[in-house]
Amino acid sequence: MRRDDRSDEAKAYRRLYNTRAWRDRRLALLSAEPMCRYCKALGRITAATVADHIVPHRGDRELFAGELQPLCQSCHSAVKQREERGGYHSAVDLDGYPIDPNHPNAASRTNIASEAK
Ligand SMILES: [Zn+2]
Repeated sequence: MRRDDRSDEAKAYRRLYNTRAWRDRRLALLSAEPMCRYCKALGRITAATVADHIVPHRGDRELFAGELQPLCQSCHSAVKQREERGGYHSAVDLDGYPIDPNHPNAASRTNIASEAK
C-alpha cells in the first residue's frame, strides 16, 4: 500500500473526502439523480458514479460545499482534464448547447429552454 507521502494538497483533499458528511452528500446526490448528467444531455443513459463539483474546489472548504453534479467516470475524467488546462468541456448536447455549466455559452441554454416552455 502507498504511504501517505504526497503533497499537502493531496492530504487536504483526503481530509475533505474522507468524512461521513461527504459520503452522505454523495449518496444523496446519486440517489436523487442516478444518471450521468452529461451523458443524458447527449442522449445517452449512463449510471453516474461520481459526485462532481461544478466549480472546482482545489481543496478549498467553501468551494467543496458548493453544488454537485452526477457524472459517469468517463465524463468526469474528460471534465477534469479540461479544468486542469484551465478550460471547460466543449461537448454540446443534442440541441447544440454546451453541456458544461462553466462554458461561456452555457447561460444561453437556460434562457432558450425557458422560452421554449
Ligand atoms: Zn457520462
